[in-house]
Amino acid sequence: MASDNLPNGFTGFSQRKPPGFVPASGIVGNDGRGAADMPAAASRSAGVGAMSAYEAAAATFGGGAQGAFQYARDHARPDAGAAQFDPDKLRMIPALDRRWSWTEIDLNAIRHNASTVKQHIGRGCRLMAVVKADAYGHGAVRCAKTALNSGAEYLGVATVNEAVELRENLVNAPILILSEPPLSAIPLLLAYKVMPSVYTPEFAIQYAEAADAFGLRAPYHLAVNTGMNRIGVRHDEVVAFMSQVSFHRALDLVGTFTHFATADSAETLDFQIQTKRFIEAISALRAAGVNPGIVHAANSAAAMRYPDVSFDMVRLGIGLYGLHPCSQTRSMIDLRPAMSVHARITDVRTVPMSEGVSYGMNYRSPGSVKICTIPIGYADGLRRGLSGRTDIIMEGQRCHQVGNICMDQCMFEVDLRVYGNRRRLDPQIGKEVLVVGREGDSIVTLDDLANVLGTINYEVAIGFGCSRMPRVYV
Ligand SMILES: *Cc1c(COP(=O)(O)O)cnc(C)c1O
Repeated sequence: MASDNLPNGFTGFSQRKPPGFVPASGIVGNDGRGAADMPAAASRSAGVGAMSAYEAAAATFGGGAQGAFQYARDHARPDAGAAQFDPDKLRMIPALDRRWSWTEIDLNAIRHNASTVKQHIGRGCRLMAVVKADAYGHGAVRCAKTALNSGAEYLGVATVNEAVELRENLVNAPILILSEPPLSAIPLLLAYKVMPSVYTPEFAIQYAEAADAFGLRAPYHLAVNTGMNRIGVRHDEVVAFMSQVSFHRALDLVGTFTHFATADSAETLDFQIQTKRFIEAISALRAAGVNPGIVHAANSAAAMRYPDVSFDMVRLGIGLYGLHPCSQTRSMIDLRPAMSVHARITDVRTVPMSEGVSYGMNYRSPGSVKICTIPIGYADGLRRGLSGRTDIIMEGQRCHQVGNICMDQCMFEVDLRVYGNRRRLDPQIGKEVLVVGREGDSIVTLDDLANVLGTINYEVAIGFGCSRMPRVYV
């Protein structure tokens, strides 16, 4: 036998064996043969005389050949091999040298979008950068810091953990959680100085009492339901709500807000009804002697389309990342998409005419193409529904993605024929291609993919950006 098979699939060649060690290969074999087929070698190496390999394994491990294999598996440290290598050197191997797919985030685009929207809404109106869901897949910490340096003053997140991550990375700006967290999370809000949205009396009172116990104020924003029917105190019950809770001295109403269900729709009637209800709710609070604090309602679509509902602050999410919330805003404001998706070719092959490619073989090679593989699949946000319906950009030219998109890889075809003013392309292993982005005159956008999929750009961006792909800032 030339080698010993280790149970993790690696093969050693010249390592000395510790005494009494029974190599798993001697027992189960490495070629599918059963232990009974190769008794002599195993029993000799085990040093147990004339037993069969099966008996040798049983004697050593107590449980037969299968048991021996299982034993080795359970007791070998999974990183045992790594111990021979310098851990610092291993760590130094960059993410982009480990797998050839990644997202790129252009922080200049984030700067441009923040300051463009800030100009659009005018002086005296604050900008909240909404960085929930890891900044829509763009990376919350870097995007928050960039936005705060480009005119944003406030941050919006969805969860307590998202807020804690920002604080732990030294982000100091006011942070609002855009819904009411569980009561059990209240200590975290106080410790990390994160404001909740509030709309139940139970939360308001417990939050206030916990703050009081620490000698702290309990700042919050009041969420008002004006028609979306997701969260918030009903628009005609805000005064009653405030009179129920405001006896508590620690409670500090810092802002009052609502959220539009249809700011991105062509139809505007529902939007107008929500606006009217919100203005009435704010007036009622003021009439009752309650200062509503920072009044805000607009998401990206409303901030761009309806400057008259900007009030004291707008909550900019999708627009910060350079994506339009709806087609109507395209002509209103100049945004730059921040995310692009990149890969390098891992395989190039000639596939004879009529042979299939990928699971299902729905695509058949026309013979005049090369098939290239890239390591990005639906586990990386390249949704399977895009199979055969998107292009990969190589050398500034669009190439059709072909065959079903797999979990971790997909294929595209490079047409080798030269026609029109097309250059002949020369795909090579290691060559960089674009899955989303622009090169020369060729462009594939997150909106293109969202349209094919029948979804919104938000979901596609988060699919790529919150996946296992590494992220690079440029
Ligand atoms: C997510 C969110 C926003 C941001 O919406 P965009 O359409 O991405 O601008 C604003 N307000 C609330 C309450 C949200 O949940």
